[in-house]
Amino acid sequence: MKIIDAHMHFSNLESFKYTADNISKLDYSARGLKKEFRDSNVILGVGMGVTEAERGSFPCAKAENPMGLDLGTRTPANVACCVGINPVQLEYGNRDKILSVIEKTLKRKNIVGIKIYAGYYHFYVYDNIYEPVYELAAQYKLPVVFHGGDPYSEKALLKYSHPLAVDELAMMHRDVNFVIAHMGNPWVMDTANVVLKNENVFTDMSGLFVGDKIQIQSILQEPLQYQYLKTAMLFTSNFDKYLFGTDWPLAPIKPYANLIKQIVPEKHYEKVFYNNALNVFPKIKALLGDIR
Ligand SMILES: [Zn+2]
Repeated sequence: MKIIDAHMHFSNLESFKYTADNISKLDYSARGLKKEFRDSNVILGVGMGVTEAERGSFPCAKAENPMGLDLGTRTPANVACCVGINPVQLEYGNRDKILSVIEKTLKRKNIVGIKIYAGYYHFYVYDNIYEPVYELAAQYKLPVVFHGGDPYSEKALLKYSHPLAVDELAMMHRDVNFVIAHMGNPWVMDTANVVLKNENVFTDMSGLFVGDKIQIQSILQEPLQYQYLKTAMLFTSNFDKYLFGTDWPLAPIKPYANLIKQIVPEKHYEKVFYNNALNVFPKIKALLGDIR
């Protein structure tokens, strides 16, 4: 089965490098990624753009806008990008200029969506600061991905990353598709309901577990650790709404995919691991044509 990883990273962030070296124990480089993609039959990844102006400063108020993929000198051709937005700059910087740079970037072939780091940056997703970004998303028919749920930084605030906030935004912007990352974990039932209720909201299954190969495999021995995710998914009972993603480098791809296969009913693998990503990120289709 061909797989699209709808949420991974390829950014030069200190926290990712630390995690790769000490927790997930993998080779966080173009070479390492290519090998893992090959071993797991992943044909394309969607990299969530994020950068830090100073080492270890994410969520960084000074980060460039939009934030891209900056690990190494060249991003592999089969890694697309959702550009990250730094809202602090939108509030205090030259807004018009920043928005015109963002717009220009969105026209690039490999830019398949926009990423907003809810929780990390202290704004609700329906805050007016993001309104011009949603207008661009509607104009260019690009989805907006939000960080959802438990953050990977003590500097984040949980109230901004709760999936319920996306419900209000989804109603205000039926012209844009939204993706709640990480199933909003641990608020997976809340996410399941937001996704069920709103035609234009989807969710990805990335970053639900962080660890090395042995740790990820050991979760399979203890179903209680993942059963609640299955319950949430069955509550939605719409398998067009769930996208496979890893949050690489937070976990090695193959064991992570094997774990997600225990959560998704087998008859829906094709949708969750591949087709839904093509539907939510329409620009991927053209990219796949180029890679072949
Ligand atoms: Zn991520």
